[in-house]
Amino acid sequence: MIVKTDTTGAADTALSLYLADEASTEELGKLLAMASSQSTADNEVGPTLGGRLFLSGDLGAGKTTLSRGIVRAYGHHGAVKSPTYTLVEPYELVNGNIYHFDLYRLSEPEEVEFLGVEDYFSPRNLCIIEWAEKGAGFLPRPDLRVTLSIEGEGRRATLGADTKRGHEITQNLLGLCQNRQFGTP
Ligand code: ADP
Ligand code: MG
Repeated sequence: MIVKTDTTGAADTALSLYLADEASTEELGKLLAMASSQSTADNEVGPTLGGRLFLSGDLGAGKTTLSRGIVRAYGHHGAVKSPTYTLVEPYELVNGNIYHFDLYRLSEPEEVEFLGVEDYFSPRNLCIIEWAEKGAGFLPRPDLRVTLSIEGEGRRATLGADTKRGHEITQNLLGLCQNRQFGTP
């Protein structure tokens, strides 16, 4: 994985990572899974401690690729489809429940209520939400926001924490990234 980290000194720690290729985006997903789980050893994903992760960025920015990395790291071996039409795809796995949303097709934010989001957003579940902005006003606030954008041949991921839990995940992720080989965009 080729990533480059720049951290700002701001209170809301922002972490910026350059992802050279698709495999790097999936790898960041795996690191995020490790960072949000109770892992006992390096390079291992433990039971999910839950959390809400909002993914932003244009179509093709890599949101589903990142989600796939997280879901696979939690032990799902099959395909990870984009929930564009189903709006939510559940993964009830040995290491915990993950609910992957894609709200792109919502025409009104109110429609989020028909999904029964309250049930999904239990603190023990990991909820990954692509296009959360489409449900603005009807979703609880995220722990962590990841914005993906196209940069050269690759992608840039910018992470921002909104809650204590989000800061905890970011700090864990920083620790994990420091053990990796970094490259330049
Ligand atoms: P989104 O869900 O944001 O619409 P996808 O995850 O479906 O985007 O990804 C769109 C395309 O971007 C895929 O073809 C994927 O292979 C590619 N991709 C993902 N990450 C990277 C990266 N770091 N560098 C280059 N291409 C990438
Ligand atoms: Mg997508």
